[in-house]
Order: sequence, then structure tokens, then C-alpha cells
Amino acid sequence: MADSIPLPISLPQHPPLLVVVSGPSAVGKDAALTRMRELNYPFYFLVTNTTRPKRPEEVEGVDYHFVTREQFQEMEGNGDFLEHAVVYGYDYGNSRRQVREALARGLDVIMRIDVQGAATIKRLVPDAVFIFLLPPTLDKLERRLRKRRTEPEEYLRLRVHAARLEMSEMDKFDYVIVNEDDALDDTADLIYSIIRAEKCRVKPRQIVV
Ligand code: 5GP
Repeated sequence: MADSIPLPISLPQHPPLLVVVSGPSAVGKDAALTRMRELNYPFYFLVTNTTRPKRPEEVEGVDYHFVTREQFQEMEGNGDFLEHAVVYGYDYGNSRRQVREALARGLDVIMRIDVQGAATIKRLVPDAVFIFLLPPTLDKLERRLRKRRTEPEEYLRLRVHAARLEMSEMDKFDYVIVNEDDALDDTADLIYSIIRAEKCRVKPRQIVV
């Protein structure tokens, strides 16, 4: 008997996804996404524009697009941003055009964003996939913040306080991952697993940006 009798149903078509990775500052969003990039996970990694000064280890165009306040305001005036926000005194904004172009090329777009930004994206693009990263404990988060040593002590305390509030937003997300110490590959793999599972949905998400 022939072994190529077609299925009596049509399989769902999955348009590319917008994946939002969020969580408190220093939880490891950037590190997880950098690791995914290193491991050549097949995504379009959206690069945020920011007016924050570059940290020594950061690379322009990879970690952020570092722009002046004037440049940022011009982009904002042109309606370039899908979402933009002031975070700890600096501007951050993601380009709507870049998201649209990547989706049109069939690429899943992955972005990292703070918790308030994720809430904005949820309003604008409710069908995006929302992933929340948690630290294993509060003191481990504080240790990660201190290790970075980029902020003065009072900002550090502010960020720990903000982290407590941000964690209470977790139930607005679709998935939660605890980003354990020295386990970036696991976190990267879990993010990828979530996206693979999303590609098995019977009713695919429809991303409209
Ligand atoms: P940092 O300056 O430490 O790299 O980032 C500060 C916070 O801003 C982090 O929580 C980071 O995820 C967030 N962030 C980065 N890009 C964006 C963005 O485009 N929009 C918003 N709302 N937050 C962002």
C-alpha cells in the first residue's frame, strides 16, 4: 500500500513570533540572549537604541545602538519606536521598522526589555510571547548587580527595590524561567524550547506590529 496518503487535515501555518524576554535588572536577560547569539540560535535579535553611556565591555550595534539624546528625540519624533521608555534616567527604544522587516523575512524576533516595557508591548502586541526571567534568590540578584559595579550604591538599592516590585508582575507573562547561577546554556535552551513548543500550537499566534 502507498505510504504517502495525505492527512485529511491541513496543518497550522506558524507566522514568525515576537518573543519578549523580561525580568528585573541584572537577572541575566542580556547574558541569556548573548549566549543564544553565540550558540547561533536562529533568531533576529533586536538591538535597542539607548542614550545610556556605553559600558567598557559593550559593543555598539550588538549590545545596544548608543545614540545621543538629540538622535533619540529625532527617532521618537519620526514615530520610529515600537516602544520607548525612560529607565533609570536614560532613554531606551526599539525600532518598529526593524521588527516589521525581520518578521516579513520570516524571522522570529527576540527582544529583551524591562518589565514596564513588556507591559507596553503586551498592550500593543498582545499575541507576542512573554517570558519572565527570575533570579534564584533576591541576594543572588543583588550580587549580580554588585558584580556589574556600574551603578553607585544608591542606584543599586533602587534596582533591588524595583526588582521586588517587578517580580509581582510575573503573572502577566506566559512563561517563567529561573535563571540559575552559571546556567546560561540551560536558560538559553529553555527559551528555545518555549519557542519550539509555540511552533506546535494548534492555533498559532498572529503577530501584528
Ligand atoms: P541596562 O542599562 O542595565 O542595560 O538596562 C536597564 C534596563 O533597561 C534593563 O532592565 C533592560 O532590559 C531595559 N531595556 C533595554 N532595552 C529596553 C527597551 O527598549 N525598552 C525598555 N522599556 N527597557 C529596555
